[in-house]
Amino acid sequence: MRLALPLLLFRPRRPLARGAAWLATLLALLVLASLPARAQSLLRDAETERFLHDVSRPIFEAAGLKPRAVDFYLVGDPSINAFVTGGQNIFVHSGLILAADNVDQLVGVIAHETGHITGGHLVRFDDGIKGARNISILSMLAGVAAMVAGAGDAGVAILSAGQSAAQGNFLAYSRVQEAAADQAGADFLDRAGISGEGYLGFFRKLQEQEFRYGYTMDAYARSHPLTGDRIAKLEERVKASPVYAKPADPALQERFLRIKAKLAGYVNDPGLTFQQYPPSDTSPAARLARTYAYHKQANREKAVAEIDALLAVYPDDPYVLEIKAQVLMESGDVINAIPTLRRAVALAPAEPLIATTLGHALVASENAADLPEAIAILRRVIALDDENPFAWYQLGMAYSRSGDEPRAALATAERLSMSQGNARDIAQSAQVAMRGLPQGTPDWIRAQDLLLIAQETLKTQQGRRRG
Ligand SMILES: [Zn+2]
Repeated sequence: MRLALPLLLFRPRRPLARGAAWLATLLALLVLASLPARAQSLLRDAETERFLHDVSRPIFEAAGLKPRAVDFYLVGDPSINAFVTGGQNIFVHSGLILAADNVDQLVGVIAHETGHITGGHLVRFDDGIKGARNISILSMLAGVAAMVAGAGDAGVAILSAGQSAAQGNFLAYSRVQEAAADQAGADFLDRAGISGEGYLGFFRKLQEQEFRYGYTMDAYARSHPLTGDRIAKLEERVKASPVYAKPADPALQERFLRIKAKLAGYVNDPGLTFQQYPPSDTSPAARLARTYAYHKQANREKAVAEIDALLAVYPDDPYVLEIKAQVLMESGDVINAIPTLRRAVALAPAEPLIATTLGHALVASENAADLPEAIAILRRVIALDDENPFAWYQLGMAYSRSGDEPRAALATAERLSMSQGNARDIAQSAQVAMRGLPQGTPDWIRAQDLLLIAQETLKTQQGRRRG
């Protein structure tokens, strides 16, 4: 689990020069100050992303969508919400996962959101904002945050409050659209052989909250208006399904409890985590939650003890290894984090986020002998994950430390263009890269492409200013 703003919770305790630490804090404050009040963070975690894709695959297939074409974004926000935007993106708030009791409740919400995607209930977003694929501002700030943090976390990103307001809070689907999404969601669950009990249960839960407080607490219920009539119709529909009585898949439920516990440990106050997951609870989920809680308290010994107890049972679990490495790294022990990460990457070669952390550790070790491995691994990450400006940032550092300034400049141009940075800066970096690279090589051609795109952007901007 990685934070959008690593500076606040998991400030890297890698030794920073005093002045540099000061500067980092100051810049962090500036970044925060420049954000609107309810800024949100985007969380990235290999295990959680893999889980969301795995549980949704049967739903997407039932809906006729290509599972790989749908992207999930986990928003660090305690309110219960989920929404879709153009380009088949599903945003899920951490609050929604924490509020779900079981995997089928979460899958029910995903099925409903998928109903909004296939129903094309997205048009209104695209009028105002260009679709949240442009996590753009986002990645730009992310770049800043990562730089500021020095050893910042991978995939760092910030979702602007403006976007979230437009998407989550002020947009309400029409009743007709809601009814259509309800039905579609139930159909997809049926076809996937998943009971709609969780689906119904989650909506009931929201409705009960509404009764209890007399008004709608959560953004989800605001954007997806719940009425008694709607719930009654949904109930009738899901109870008629032949798979209604089918229990949740135990393996998926186990994974759900793990990702929920990680999230809880990561976002909640340690005190609350110890209440919810007391030390007497030795389930894997509870140990994961407590690892994060102890880590938040900077209690490295206890955090490592919890994670080692898990590793004794699951020695080959790449996600558990990843967390151990994260704890080591963030408590200043980069050297021991590296072999742990190498093992995690070997066990899960298709997880670019884990590989990013290894690349980061290899750069952070400040050992020149680690740089070729860092470059190789980060290049592989970039080929797998096209939304990872942090990986480009680390790759740029690795090239720069290896004395390869042209490729460092190319990495900067790539990172800036990915985060929709200033076209003039992109052009400048691309030119530096082109001057130093052998003409006609793939990297030189890529630099030329970036330069041409940036020049085109500049021309359009100048034209707009004149017009
Ligand atoms: Zn809805």
